[in-house]
Amino acid sequence: MRVKAFLLAGALASAGPIAAQDTETRQLTDHQQMVHDIYRDIIGFRTARGHQQVDDMVAYLTKHLSDAGFAQEDLMVTDYDSDGEPTQGLIVRYRGDGSSGEKPIVMLAHMDVVDALPEDWDRDPFTLTEEDGYFFGRGTMDNKYGVANLVGTFIRLKDEGWTPNRDLYLAFSGDEETGMVSTRAQAKWIAENVDPAFVLNSDAGGTALDDEFKPLAMRVQAAEKTFATFELTVTNPGGHSSRPRSDNAIYELSAALLKLADHKFAVQATPLTRSYFAALGQSVPGELGNAMRAFAENPEDPAAVATLQSNPETVGMLGTTCVATMLRAGHAENALPQSATATVNCRIFPGIGVEQTQAELARVIGNDNVSFKLMAEVTESPVSVLRDDVRAAVAKSLAARYGKDIPIIPYMESGGTDGMHYRTLGYDTVAVSGGASRSQDMYAHGLNERANVDAFYSGLDHWTIILKELAGR
Ligand SMILES: [Zn+2]
Repeated sequence: MRVKAFLLAGALASAGPIAAQDTETRQLTDHQQMVHDIYRDIIGFRTARGHQQVDDMVAYLTKHLSDAGFAQEDLMVTDYDSDGEPTQGLIVRYRGDGSSGEKPIVMLAHMDVVDALPEDWDRDPFTLTEEDGYFFGRGTMDNKYGVANLVGTFIRLKDEGWTPNRDLYLAFSGDEETGMVSTRAQAKWIAENVDPAFVLNSDAGGTALDDEFKPLAMRVQAAEKTFATFELTVTNPGGHSSRPRSDNAIYELSAALLKLADHKFAVQATPLTRSYFAALGQSVPGELGNAMRAFAENPEDPAAVATLQSNPETVGMLGTTCVATMLRAGHAENALPQSATATVNCRIFPGIGVEQTQAELARVIGNDNVSFKLMAEVTESPVSVLRDDVRAAVAKSLAARYGKDIPIIPYMESGGTDGMHYRTLGYDTVAVSGGASRSQDMYAHGLNERANVDAFYSGLDHWTIILKELAGR
């Protein structure tokens, strides 16, 4: 066991209220030291698109797992071509004795990261740096904490000689942040070969902390909106600008976009979003909190809907949104435009579908000259159930880690994670990260990504407790 001194700073000097500074000696357990070292080492791999180091990270992880006693045949490495770039995926099987008669559990993380330019960061993004109570580095949150925590948990349980009563799997993708080619292939393989009872994702959710780093609530990602981008185009024969025609591609497209600007999709409420607002409304002050509680009570309350729709933080929870994001038109200042194209990005409410959304946009525009093109493959995924057994296991982890019960709040994400590819195949998938952060410390994908050191260590028993609950009796 190594002993390590560190400074527990309440916050970065530049951000938020500052808690009393405090020097404390942290004695790392063997387990904490091991996970810390894995975390440090894998942050050193630049697993961003263009750098091709995912395979190095896979080799590193399989070496550690194999040293811990996982058989070669249970460490499944697959090569993928992610839109022209090689990457790898890793699936790890922890064999159970089958005594529960239950189907396996699959846990997800991704090994790739969004790239980070060292010259733009205050510290090297690919060197784990501990400073002011934070770990800095690309992937400290998204999602190398999840990888290190899950791998560390498997190694710890193996060292203990523990045998689960059902099979457990880790599925680590290699291109979650870009093409998700490995994710799709792994999800298909898992469906065909494992057919799990459910899936737990390490890449979202987690404990929300208040300004003083006290736990407020455990967020559980149970649904994701569908990301779909359309190009809307008007074409025209064009001609010389000295001889304007009665029709014009730019005017026609502009008129169509103004109709979209005024359009609001139907307000939708699901048990998930209502309970989310009911819970969050307890801690959000003022008019916004009142609106959240009123909407949870009655989703047709017009004042509550107006307040939530006018707030960028909440509008996405009330239904589908579509918004113009890019525009291009014309080819010369003295020529009539032969085409005008707008990019419209939609975040579609679960259950609505891309076709229905496109049909609604077309109906609102009401002009057959506006053509629609869907820009990329879309994954639609249903809302997942937070099962009672999973909720109970998560609650047990929270109680152990924080010494008290904290509320568990399922929510719908407007972003995208590996989870949607499992949901779309029919598997209930919830993201229940062991991480914890304050909202002002969210730097995933951005500059100077960080994770609170205290929260890092306090999350390291999370998966052990959950797995012993779900696969230990
Ligand atoms: Zn992620």
